[in-house]
Amino acid sequence: MTPEELVSFITEQGYPRFRAAQIGDWLQKGVTDFDEMRNLPAQIRENLKSSCYISVATIEKKQVSRYDKTVKYLFSFPDGECVESVLMSYHHGYAICISTQVGCKMGCTFCATGQSGFARDLTASEMLAQIEAAQRDENVRISNVVLMGMGEPLDNFDNVVRFLRLAGSEKGLNIGMRHITLSTCGLVPKIRELAKLRLQINLAVSLHAPNDEIRARTMPVAKAYPMEQLLDACRDYFDATGRRVTFEYALIRGVNDRDEHARELGQRLKSLHCHVNLIPVNAVEGTGYMKSDLQRQRAFADILAGYGIAATVRRTLGSDIDASCGQLRRKSLHKE
Ligand code: SAH
Ligand code: SF4
Repeated sequence: MTPEELVSFITEQGYPRFRAAQIGDWLQKGVTDFDEMRNLPAQIRENLKSSCYISVATIEKKQVSRYDKTVKYLFSFPDGECVESVLMSYHHGYAICISTQVGCKMGCTFCATGQSGFARDLTASEMLAQIEAAQRDENVRISNVVLMGMGEPLDNFDNVVRFLRLAGSEKGLNIGMRHITLSTCGLVPKIRELAKLRLQINLAVSLHAPNDEIRARTMPVAKAYPMEQLLDACRDYFDATGRRVTFEYALIRGVNDRDEHARELGQRLKSLHCHVNLIPVNAVEGTGYMKSDLQRQRAFADILAGYGIAATVRRTLGSDIDASCGQLRRKSLHKE
């Protein structure tokens, strides 16, 4: 609930509105049980227990990277469904990558999540619960959030927008919108809908190819929304929000990493206010894809730079702990 919804709920129950503020404070502290709300009379706590619940993400599995202290969680919810989150530590603080759905419908061929199908959407509170659980477990305060875990955020639009408002609110997690990044595979109408909301979040778009033909080989969504439409929507997103769009480009050996691909991409993106994140593809078991070597990664970035496009090769964190989302859940499903 938003603070306003909490006030109407509490007053409808016949309690004074300051009780809503007290409950809000406890929730902001991250309590997971109504009995911990010690300044509430027992009768209110009992009433809350019978009519409400606090979303909690339970740690099923936790892996800590030996190389860089990245933490990978497999969280479960009361219905038994599991999602993954990754906590990363940077010199300026902590960032978390959270999931927005259990699985994904989009079916990208390089992605472990896409390969294991879709179960259900997450609620806004289940997205918040991943952040709360990681903060509690590691006793840290998270300052940056990326929606790059399992799922396609824009395919769960209403819950994700609700999450963004709650996470960004002063009475919620109070993480500034500018510290939140939403990544999408390119659902054009939803990008346009998001632009209309003018939230100050960062938008990342998974491009992974210089043209529709190559894109459609790895991303079925390319058949529904051609790249020209997608890039137009990104242009309009920038015009509406003033936020520069990031393009993600996973370099896959022999598929999308040749010089001619970089030149074609450079041509298409040079008029956009954007940044390109080059990511050596994470070789997910069973996909047959391999990452481009270091030399290829650099050559690709250099060609883009020649078109005036800021391109960086993303550092890999947690490579020893299946930190690419979908891998851990898939393993645990296989075991079952
Ligand atoms: N569904 C959204 C967000 C979740 S995926 C999206 O597709 O953008 C987050 C990012 O991880 C996307 O850029 C996705 O393309 C990328 N990704 C998925 N599998 C990958 C892999 N095996 N190697 C590198 N990047 C991968
Ligand atoms: Fe879904 Fe994103 Fe994976 Fe594609 S890359 S299957 S959209 S999670």
